[in-house]
Formats: sequence, structure tokens, C-alpha cells
Amino acid sequence: MTARDPLLDPVLAGDRRALARAITLVESTRSDHRDRAAALLDGLREAGREALRIGLSGTPGVGKSTFIEAFGTMLTGQGQHVAVLAVDPSSARTGGSILGDKTRMDRLARDPNAFIRPSPAASHLGGVARRSREAVALCEAAGFDVILIETVGVGQSETMVAQISDIFVLLLAPAGGDELQGVKRGIMEIADVILVNKADGDLKAAATRTVADYAGALRLLRKRPQDPDGFPVALPVSALESAGLDRAWQAMRDLADWRRDAGHWQARRSEQAAHWFAEEVRAGLLARLSEDGTARDRMARLAAQVASGERDAKAAAAEMLESLRGA
Ligand code: GDP
Repeated sequence: MTARDPLLDPVLAGDRRALARAITLVESTRSDHRDRAAALLDGLREAGREALRIGLSGTPGVGKSTFIEAFGTMLTGQGQHVAVLAVDPSSARTGGSILGDKTRMDRLARDPNAFIRPSPAASHLGGVARRSREAVALCEAAGFDVILIETVGVGQSETMVAQISDIFVLLLAPAGGDELQGVKRGIMEIADVILVNKADGDLKAAATRTVADYAGALRLLRKRPQDPDGFPVALPVSALESAGLDRAWQAMRDLADWRRDAGHWQARRSEQAAHWFAEEVRAGLLARLSEDGTARDRMARLAAQVASGERDAKAAAAEMLESLRGA
């Protein structure tokens, strides 16, 4: 039997430093760290704890950090333990994190009931996905009630964050005219709650119009089985003035409660688990391709043949896969 990981009990007890160290462990690419992380995550499952995982997306400048600071502070004020994780796909390219700035959310960062973790620098989105998912599992085991998973509204990161969230919130700014700010249909389709931020001062009227526009657009979307009447919903908020946050929270809780009662909550988590299992297998196969010298050479040779037009892609892939059988 392997020894009980020394981080296991402190994480279960909600020890912040142990949690931070455990997240550093799951972020590591060293194979001995990966093995230890996998055993730790497995061990933590026994606690069977479940948090409300809220994905939050929005373009830079829409007010994500201001919102999280205000919303998180409201929740901790109600006695909830809140973890904030940032998923920044740009860190995969630049090695730096635009969401990692420590000066963001400084009030929440000092709040004893909150835990903030910036985005890990990772070499590719797949790596970011796995680490984020594992960091969520660690925060959940550490006993947090609400986990906010923040991402910028670019590329595939939103779909990925939706795959690790129970509820997906889209933060938008008031639009100038009556146009829906070029929000991609795909994003609208995964949003459960749309919050139009900056509904204050001069922007208030525009925010009210924008909410109405989105409410109209949402009604045109196909009704999803995982939604009660009235969802997805569009609401105005002002992160700056902490206005509308309680209503937004009520909407999220109503949706979560309904989904739990209707069985959609568990179904979504099961689907997500199956999705991530398949992703892990895929990533493992790809890793094997790059780690195994013979496979790598064959792959390079076949790729060159496909590139030169000598071989068909499908046939070459079939040969590659055949060579892996029993490897
Ligand atoms: P992020 O890039 O999405 O994290 O956005 P920030 O939270 O950094 O906010 C970008 C800018 O919008 C800052 O100047 C904020 O002060 C401002 N802002 C954020 N929330 C609100 C709001 O509710 N009302 C108004 N008027 N400005 C806001």
C-alpha cells in the first residue's frame, strides 16, 4: 500500500498553504509529480465534497475582476467559502498570465474566507484544461462552497471552462446601439446567466436596453432540457456599485437547485467526467507518440509522405494506428 500523501489531510482540513502546494503539484509537468498528483486527487475523492462551480467569462475590460471582487465579497459576507481560479489561455502562448496580476481583487485576496489562484502558465490549452480541472477538484475537496472559474472571452477557453462548471455566466458590457455585440452564437448557447455589467451612471439606460436585447435573443434560442422556465436569463449588474449581485446570485442558485432536483446536475457532471476521461486517453496516446522514439520516427516519416502527396492522410493514419497496437 502506498503511504498517505502528507498533503491529503491538510487539504481536507481546508489548510490554504497545503491547498496552494497541492495546486502547484497538479500544475507540475514532472512525471513523479504527476503520479503523486493523481494519487492525491484519487485520495481526496473519498471526502465526496461538492461545490457550486461557476464559470465566468467576459472580454478584457468588461469588469470581471471588479465583479469577482464584489460578488465574492458578498458571498463571503454570507459565510460562504469562495475560491477563485483564473484560466488564461494567453498564458499558453506567452508563458505569462494576464489574469495573474496580484493587484486584481486585492480585497478578496485578503479575505480569510476566500482563496484566489491565478492562471498557471502552461504550454498548451490542453495542459491548462487539465490543471484547471484538477485545481477545481482540490478546492472542492478543501471544502469551498463556491468556486468561480474565470476566463477571458477568447478562443476555446470558454467551452473548456463550461466543461468544468455547473453554471456558466457570461459578463457583457452595455452595447452602444441595439446590436448584440458580436457575441458568438456558440457562447450564447453555453451561457446560463448573462450579466450586463456597468448598469450604473451614464451607462444605466444602455445596460437596460442591452439586457432587453439579450433577453429577446435568448428567447429565440432552442429551449434546452437542462433549463427551467425563464433560463438562460439576462440581468443587469453594477460590479462597481455592488448592485444587482444578490439577484444574480439568486438566479444562479435557483438554476442550480432546479438542476439538482431534475437530475441534470448529476448528469452534467457525469458527462463532464466522461469527456475528461476521453481527453486524458487522447492526451496519453499523443504523449506516447512523442515519447516513443520508434513511433515518433514513423509519425515523422508518414507525415512527410502525406505532405509530399505520396500518401493519403487517412491511409497513413491507419498505418500509424495499426503500428501502435500492442505497443
Ligand atoms: P476585466 O478586464 O474584465 O477584469 O475588467 P476590470 O474589472 O479590470 O474592469 C475594467 C474597467 O471597467 C475598470 O476601469 C473598472 O473600474 C470598470 N468597471 C468594472 N465594473 C464596472 C461597473 O460595474 N461600472 C462601471 N461604470 N465601471 C466598471
